[in-house]
Amino acid sequence: MAKKISNKTIDREFLETLEKISGQKVHMCFQCGTCAGACPMCNEMDVSPRRLIRLAQLGRAEEIEALNTCWVCAACHSCQVLCPRGLDIPKIMEALRLLVLRRNEDFVKLADIPSETIKECPQIALVAAFRKFTS
Ligand code: SF4
Ligand code: SF4
Repeated sequence: MAKKISNKTIDREFLETLEKISGQKVHMCFQCGTCAGACPMCNEMDVSPRRLIRLAQLGRAEEIEALNTCWVCAACHSCQVLCPRGLDIPKIMEALRLLVLRRNEDFVKLADIPSETIKECPQIALVAAFRKFTS
């Protein structure tokens, strides 16, 4: 079941920081849901891209960080080409990841990956994963 977005005070500073890092006018999203409909990874995400962007508009940094959505995004750009507001959603996802990684907090820790997985996984996949998931 989709998580409910609570109605707390809006943290505008978070939204301003996110817009600065991503270069995107996140406040322009009018919640049409086109991105969620286009996203091939939506079923793997805690909340859809549309809901994540709504949380970002409301400045809910802590709630966003508890979700896997920006980490699961595959940067396929399907949402971006369809967004009626012209938002580059993968850039927003990347900025959300950077806000965590810049604190030297890794989403994936090498020590937590089973050695069997490391042996079986193609090196290029591991390198790509560390670029995306570690600071
Ligand atoms: S497609 Fe664009 S305007 Fe529509 S919900 Fe997604 S980000 Fe917002
Ligand atoms: S770029 Fe990310 S959020 Fe957008 S459709 Fe692709 S996987 Fe989904």
